[in-house]
Amino acid sequence: MRIGENKFVCDGCLKEVEGGSRHFSVIVQGMASFNGTLDGAENTEDVKEAISKLVEKLRKISSSGAVEEVYVENYYDLCRLCYKKFIDDPLKVLHEKDDNK
Ligand SMILES: [Zn+2]
Repeated sequence: MRIGENKFVCDGCLKEVEGGSRHFSVIVQGMASFNGTLDGAENTEDVKEAISKLVEKLRKISSSGAVEEVYVENYYDLCRLCYKKFIDDPLKVLHEKDDNK
């Protein structure tokens, strides 16, 4: 994160990136995806019903929650070491959680 003009703190290790040092920006985008099929929808009426259920579900959650269900974008500033760790295994955090089960 930027803490001043040309000053950054690494979002990974939280150390200040020294002036003149290279740092890296990472943008993580997540978006809902659709596999092209609706369970049990065999005709137009089934599709209309499935869409109505989805709209009803989205009405029950907050607008920010609905947006997060569809699209999320986060920016991170990383030092060289944290950037290399992230690029080498961006899903590491997910794998670590699986190990704890
Ligand atoms: Zn770092």
